[in-house]
Amino acid sequence: MIIVIGAGPAGLAAAEAASRNGSDIALIDSSPRVGGQYWRNRGTVKGYRSGRADQLFSKISSAKSITHISEATVWSIEKEGDLFRVNYLQGGEESSLTAEKLILATGAYDRSLPFPGWDKPGSMTPGAAQAMLKGSGVLVGKRVVVAGTGPFLLPVATGLAESGAEIVGLYEANSPIRWLLSLHALLLNPGKFAELFYYGNLLKRFKISLKFNRAVSSFADGSATVSHINSHFMVKSQREKIVHTDVVAVGWGFLPDLTLGGIVGCAQRVDSDGTTIFAVDGEQRSSVENVWIAGEATGIGGADLSLIEGEIAGLSASSQSISPSKRFTRIRKEIFANALKRSYPIGDGWQSWPQESTTICRCEEVTMHEIRESVTELGAEDSRTAKLFTRAGMGLCQGRVCSRNVSEIVGGLTHCSVTDGERIASSNRPIASPISLGLLGDGKK
Ligand SMILES: Cc1cc2nc3c(=O)[nH]c(=O)nc-3n(C[C@H](O)[C@H](O)[C@H](O)COP(=O)(O)OP(=O)(O)OC[C@H]3O[C@@H](n4cnc5c(N)ncnc54)[C@H](O)[C@@H]3O)c2cc1C
Repeated sequence: MIIVIGAGPAGLAAAEAASRNGSDIALIDSSPRVGGQYWRNRGTVKGYRSGRADQLFSKISSAKSITHISEATVWSIEKEGDLFRVNYLQGGEESSLTAEKLILATGAYDRSLPFPGWDKPGSMTPGAAQAMLKGSGVLVGKRVVVAGTGPFLLPVATGLAESGAEIVGLYEANSPIRWLLSLHALLLNPGKFAELFYYGNLLKRFKISLKFNRAVSSFADGSATVSHINSHFMVKSQREKIVHTDVVAVGWGFLPDLTLGGIVGCAQRVDSDGTTIFAVDGEQRSSVENVWIAGEATGIGGADLSLIEGEIAGLSASSQSISPSKRFTRIRKEIFANALKRSYPIGDGWQSWPQESTTICRCEEVTMHEIRESVTELGAEDSRTAKLFTRAGMGLCQGRVCSRNVSEIVGGLTHCSVTDGERIASSNRPIASPISLGLLGDGKK
């Protein structure tokens, strides 16, 4: 038996590939339907690559050897001899399943950077705006500003516009000129031109103009301040504009979800852009025997890379051969993923956006002033000590949202670069999802 955790593009491709030789597969996901973040749906998937989604969905539902366990959140994994015991919460009960092999495809979540008003009603991530639309059919507002960095802003802005929102601003923080550094990646992935053309047409249809080198530097009471920024993300103070809007959807790329692999003990490394990811080999094998990891958890690279990584992981875990063309496809997609990192970097200048009163850790309500004080007055020299002084990152989300930002703010204040050890430590947590002591005490079903 192989347990695949995560039913996004990577997990679906892994389960489908592994099922080709009849391997027994349990596909576990916390959502009610398969699809993950990209293909989150209420029946049918719309938009770019929807054909690929339909194909995979129908293969998964017709494969007799795949059992889909939905609305099940894995909160821990234990090793029992040669087996892995996967503990999950479903419908208010705790259950578990054992298997010899695991494929982890737990994806990523939006990265947020703090600015004055990022914690106010009406401010959210593009992923949240899109999840509400795709998952529940809810439009977050009539007038929406979409901002941040990365190609993900395009499907969000056009998706909201297609559903009736007026996109009153679409702001990319980086310059398109950066793509000149990666022309080879575009030539190796010509399909990306078609995707660009697809979104370009939608922007034209909805009269949305994409503006570069700009960021939402504050938001309050329906007014967003949009500032021109330089390549380090420092605000050019003389150049700003007020935009009236119901919602600002601001996102800064993605952070891989490392929790389950971290619990199992899979080795991690720090990527060239400072993001902690899992170290895997050419067949997606992690450092732990019989654990494969695929998709965004091994590096942010988009749905195409997740799909090929998932397929390779599924083939490898079920002892099927992997053709050289699949290995080459993975390399091509990785080259494109590296181009994304070069084209959409996050400049350190964002650390000048928060005011002293701006909240940095929302769960524990820790402000910029308190983080600064922990360094300048209390002598914290690293983020771990700053966290102990302020409780930043110790709340319900366990630092998922703020820990990287806190490390980088402390690094900026102490003029010391954040170490790989610090980055890895702040990306890991011992429990994947909250579980009540009552449920733990009652035991498993
Ligand atoms: C909010 C959001 C929206 C996105 N929308 C787009 C888009 O419109 N277009 C685009 O090109 N890219 C989009 N992306 C990027 C996109 O996620 C990836 O390119 C692609 O979906 C990654 O696939 P994946 O299989 O690695 O992970 P995901 O698609 O993220 O799938 C991971 C799955 O694992 C499940 N999971 C995680 N932890 C657990 C657990 N403990 N227990 C049970 N299940 C678990 C999650 O519920 C999820 O379904 C989006 C990313 C995010 C975060």
